[in-house]
Amino acid sequence: MKQYSGRSVNGGIASAPIKIYRKNEVRVRRKHVADTDAEIGRLGNAVEELCMQFEMLARKAGENVGDGDAELFNAYAMILHDQIFIGTVKETIKNERINAEFAVMRVAQGIAEMFSSMEEEYMRSRSADMEDVADRLTRLLLGEDEKPFVINEPCILVAEDLSPAQTVMLDKKLIQGIVTVKGSVTSHTAILARTMDIPAMVLVPLDLFSGEIKDEQMAVLDGFNGSFIISPDFDTLVSTKNRMEELARESEELLSYKDLESVTTDGKHIKLMANVASTYDLDAVLRSGADGIGLFRSEFLYLESRSFPDEEKQFKTYKKVLETMGDKPVVIRTMDIGADKQPDYFGVEHEENPALGFRAIRICLKKPEIFKTQLRALLRAGVYGNLQILYPMVTCAWELEWIDRVVKECAAELENEGVLYRVPVQGIMIETPAAAVTADILAGKTGFFSIGTNDLVQYTMALDRQNGMLDDFYRPKETAIRRMIEFTVKSAHENGILCGVCGELAADISMTRFFIDAGMDALSVSPGFILRLKKHIRSL
Ligand code: PEP
Ligand code: MG
Repeated sequence: MKQYSGRSVNGGIASAPIKIYRKNEVRVRRKHVADTDAEIGRLGNAVEELCMQFEMLARKAGENVGDGDAELFNAYAMILHDQIFIGTVKETIKNERINAEFAVMRVAQGIAEMFSSMEEEYMRSRSADMEDVADRLTRLLLGEDEKPFVINEPCILVAEDLSPAQTVMLDKKLIQGIVTVKGSVTSHTAILARTMDIPAMVLVPLDLFSGEIKDEQMAVLDGFNGSFIISPDFDTLVSTKNRMEELARESEELLSYKDLESVTTDGKHIKLMANVASTYDLDAVLRSGADGIGLFRSEFLYLESRSFPDEEKQFKTYKKVLETMGDKPVVIRTMDIGADKQPDYFGVEHEENPALGFRAIRICLKKPEIFKTQLRALLRAGVYGNLQILYPMVTCAWELEWIDRVVKECAAELENEGVLYRVPVQGIMIETPAAAVTADILAGKTGFFSIGTNDLVQYTMALDRQNGMLDDFYRPKETAIRRMIEFTVKSAHENGILCGVCGELAADISMTRFFIDAGMDALSVSPGFILRLKKHIRSL
């Protein structure tokens, strides 16, 4: 039995076999081959097998909406059927008498470079696909890691690090817990673990390549006290089982709060809303009895896709969310891409400081074709429920005027096309110090405020939320933050608009009294926190 400590990013306990997510480099050496026909035969077998794997993955993704991307695997299979790629690899093997894996890597690199130098964004995004297919084909030829990463049974996922894009692609139904060597408390991967309501830890000092940890080993993850145990002994397994049963009983007890009001003993009401990342989370929202969805992070729709999700795909997703929630409010945030949330196909140039860079509303305003696709889908979906649109990373009033022009343009287009639409209430995230200290000006120009404490803390305290080494300095309750929150909510109410909090601080019960006293109208938290928070509010 080996025990490791780390930083917990979500409570809960998991007991399951380990599954390691390794994204290691493939090492390919150039080799001379005497029998080029045999080498081409070896290539053909690998191509055939990989095609079968892609077809299987596409079928699986097609059966379970939200389980990855069927289009992606179909596109991958097409690359393998493409005679320019495979034909050139064969010629290279024959002419240069070299091994298949080296030829695959070289030809793929050339094609990927050609794609990435193209003007059109769609073509540039094909470059990453090419590299991924070549990587998988090379591994097959080398006999390394023959199977693509698939989760078939309940497991605790262990990884060096996970980007939000990698996390959303995983089979969430089977993951019982997440452990990473890197990461930080407010990173989006940690937020996703909370949304999925599974125990998770970051900064666990494991060496994934030393053999100290292997797939299938039994493990226990305790997200309450930040401990991860590999090969637990019998006593640990028994005590873990008892604690898990106790937790299940507590969750059951919490269900009795579902239909009760969220009100303090002295009669102060505060709405409890849910933060979600995809339609996959809707069941958890309904189970929690949330007053609505306070934050739908629409960027995950982009991160789950391998190319820009078109208007129809977005419309269907938003419509589903709205119809599921009936007349309860649903706040959908326009895509907050950038910083740690980067889909390859966006082709965003390398930035020295991505958190201060080309992200969120800035991308939307500079690339109106992307923004308009999303807005048109939202205006159309607005007919099917109580939609509110939320804009991220706003810093000043002129951005609101710009947004308004684009919204009006979309509405006029839909009107001309005779398409059904509704322009819903629109509000802004208060997550930059610039927005917080001018909340009195912005409140007169928008429909509501939602305070994003994750970024507000990052930008106010000059503290990179991705950097785990800074976790000890992460102090979201400092006076600077409290003052901004108080000023924001006061400015909202003086201008007759509502104000909520949707950052992770909303779930911190040591702050609930402060939020209520400041007059906050709503707290939006991961679905798994809602009932716990309601129980706490009713005790205040
Ligand atoms: C925030 O910044 O607090 C927020 C809710 O947005 P995100 O965490 O997605 O940046
Ligand atoms: Mg934010």
